[in-house]
Amino acid sequence: MISNPITWPNGARCAVAITFDMDSDSFLHVENPTSADRMIATTSWLRYDQIAVPRIVKMYEKYNIRQTFFVPGWCAERYPDTVKAIMDGGHEIAHHGYLHEHPNSFSANEEEYWFMRGIEALEKMTGVRPRGFRAPMYNFSKHSAELLSREGFLYDSSLMGDDIPYLIESSLGQLVELPVDWSMDDWPQYTHNPDLHYTMPINSPDRAMDVYLAQFEAAWEYGALWLAVWHPFVSGRLARCSRIDKMIQYMLEKGDVWFAPLEEIANYVNDEIAAGRYTPRREPLPFYDGTIPELSILK
Ligand code: ZN
Repeated sequence: MISNPITWPNGARCAVAITFDMDSDSFLHVENPTSADRMIATTSWLRYDQIAVPRIVKMYEKYNIRQTFFVPGWCAERYPDTVKAIMDGGHEIAHHGYLHEHPNSFSANEEEYWFMRGIEALEKMTGVRPRGFRAPMYNFSKHSAELLSREGFLYDSSLMGDDIPYLIESSLGQLVELPVDWSMDDWPQYTHNPDLHYTMPINSPDRAMDVYLAQFEAAWEYGALWLAVWHPFVSGRLARCSRIDKMIQYMLEKGDVWFAPLEEIANYVNDEIAAGRYTPRREPLPFYDGTIPELSILK
């Protein structure tokens, strides 16, 4: 099923990364700059991160696993205690914009401004420069790969082009891409919020887990990277978090699973490439400079 499989460490059948994006109410302000202050219930819904993050960190501690949290810089400034709980658990904190703004809606200069603010805020809070990035809402821009390489980033986790790590290339260098997919995001499973114009039937935790675990069984069988993109205020709610706890138990009992933060996985991938043991797929970015020529008749 996978034409160029990677060998995972210590005989593991697959790599598992549960990543949480601690967005809190950052994006509410970006989407509704003049009315977010009146959305009290929705703000409280998003601020549930303060309840969920310590719960998740405690759950990881129980199983002795370290994972990655993507945190917008503004959230680190606004909710330092919550971010401190992540740091105290020994987890990786990675870049997720400053206010959860959309990089592909900006000029290169505007994108750079917010990107650098995100780095500064996280570095100030954690004392460590982030090495990984996930574009808010996966809205990676035509300039993002160059910006990431210029700032010395190791990996990105916003794109969706494979089941295993690959390399993305720009004029300024290459990065490890740790690919995601909407089927591994908790948003389509659980979110319903009229203020966000997002009204969906809410699935039970077992039904959501069916989707995630189908991917896990295939990842285990074929040697893929299983990478969840979840949100504390969504998946950290009581019944859902309890189901995740059982999921981790199940994965550990099944065995030969490598739980690791994304930075560790990206470093491992680079080591395997350097040792000549893995030949990743390479994808130059951006895919297109503008409208494809076949459509020039529309201009
Ligand atoms: Zn996000």
